[in-house]
Amino acid sequence: MTDSKDEKAPVKRHASAIPLPGEPEFEFFKVIQGYVAQAANLIELPEYLRRILPEPKNEIIVHFPVRLDSGDVELFKGYRIQHNNILGPFKGGLRYHPSAGLDDFKALAAMMTWKCSLIGVPFGGAKGGIRFDPTKYSRGEIERITRRFIHSLANNIGPDSDIPAPDVGTGEQTMAWAMDTYINTSGRSGNQANRGVVTGKPVAVGGTLGRTKATGQGVVHCIVDWADRHGFDLEGKKLMVQGFGNVGSHTAVLLSHLGVSTVAVGDHTGYLYNPEGFNTYRLQDYVRKHGSIQGYPNGQSITRAEFFAASADIFVPAALENQIGAEEARALQVRLVAEGANGPTNPAGEAILNERGIAVLPDILANAGGVTVSYYEWVQNRRSESWTITDVDDRLEKAMRLGCQQMYDLAHRYNTSYRIACYAGAVERLRVAYEQRGIFP
Ligand code: NAD
Repeated sequence: MTDSKDEKAPVKRHASAIPLPGEPEFEFFKVIQGYVAQAANLIELPEYLRRILPEPKNEIIVHFPVRLDSGDVELFKGYRIQHNNILGPFKGGLRYHPSAGLDDFKALAAMMTWKCSLIGVPFGGAKGGIRFDPTKYSRGEIERITRRFIHSLANNIGPDSDIPAPDVGTGEQTMAWAMDTYINTSGRSGNQANRGVVTGKPVAVGGTLGRTKATGQGVVHCIVDWADRHGFDLEGKKLMVQGFGNVGSHTAVLLSHLGVSTVAVGDHTGYLYNPEGFNTYRLQDYVRKHGSIQGYPNGQSITRAEFFAASADIFVPAALENQIGAEEARALQVRLVAEGANGPTNPAGEAILNERGIAVLPDILANAGGVTVSYYEWVQNRRSESWTITDVDDRLEKAMRLGCQQMYDLAHRYNTSYRIACYAGAVERLRVAYEQRGIFP
């Protein structure tokens, strides 16, 4: 375990995916700190909290060896960044991706703190993962990598201290291995509440109904809420979605129930267009079987630039951060961007979307459905309960609607963007907690 100061991984520049001459570059973590600083000004946050809140509490980096199928041994680097736990245990996903590094994990961990605070779940913020490409490894190798990583994190995670969940490149199978490893190495394998060490597990091993679709479902609640407030009839509207994994595919499927057709999709392998609308169920099945949209027969292949210029009404980015820079923001034809992904819009892109009157429902609200239902899973694990899908769905809808109401109220009160309104609400809750608890000793 080392301190981040020893970490030599290059900071990933938050450059626009297609940088324009003269366009500024952004570092993801600094971008998030910038939002916190803007919110701090609005709510007149005391100076000492402006120093504490932007920084993570713990930066954990581990190196661990894993034997590959070939017999070779590879050394992996894993991260767990624990940003803040004043409101509850650290909470946040595990990401397996070849470009994920310390800067991303710090940014994503901080976003979890603000997301949980905003939506009102009693968790803090964390994020972690491993920089590697899981598509290049066998299932057995990924299982061993996951188990060694969880073993290396040891007592830094636990159902009362830090609770991982799925993110890009991980899913419910990863969480089942993570839970099994924790339970078998914690020395308390009889304690059923230890299943709450991770969320997003398969239902058969302590997961909750409704978690798999939860993030997409939350995005849809935010879109419906926005549409209701703006007299925007969703029936017959067109959706474009970038990323067709957990968040993107469920958002598209759930919106299809409301009469919204998905006309453009993209993932790490490319982009497809179908003016008649894709059958989102079939596309979801195809991606489950083939790992990507590549080769899906019912769509015309288009470039990334053509994708961003497609004729549509709603855009849901559901892949990675920093996908909407200035050029993409100028190209988009939609009325609404609902951020399924974390950090998909960079500040240059957002400024242009604002100028063009394109509404942005920010990530820390729009994709908070995932952590909200993770909280329900954790509560069920603690109480040995199994809630019905109706229980989960109803609670999630209430939580998301309340989150939306908060955002509109705060945007009105502070005359600011939806994003900064969300940060203001989230930072305010931590201010109250710090002021009431004081600074130890
Ligand atoms: P996933 O691994 O299931 O899907 C990721 C998708 O992004 C895949 O379709 C992949 O092909 C695509 N992708 C990867 N690199 C790309 C690139 N360079 N260009 C275009 N597409 C690319 O992951 P997920 O869980 O759906 O997460 C997607 C986003 O949503 C991430 O930003 C994640 O942090 C965020 N998020 C996820 C959850 C959750 O519950 N899973 C909750 C909140 C936020």
